[in-house]
Amino acid sequence: MLTCKEMSELGSDIIDDHLGLRTRMDVFMHLGMCPRCRRYIKQLRLTSQVLQQLPPDSAPVDAQAILDKVRRHSE
Ligand SMILES: [Zn+2]
Repeated sequence: MLTCKEMSELGSDIIDDHLGLRTRMDVFMHLGMCPRCRRYIKQLRLTSQVLQQLPPDSAPVDAQAILDKVRRHSE
């Protein structure tokens, strides 16, 4: 069984879907019983979606605007 610490270490692999079947099952089980990690993964996923929506030439990235967008999405 995964711990919350392991979940946060796996964070980007989870949203990028880089997990093996076994780990994915463990993650799924953990998310089923841990609202805190559910929220954490949801937040990560929203953040990566927002980042992907940005045009590639929009550097420097306005971090505050992204955070505002993520916050609006998750309310
Ligand atoms: Zn957890």
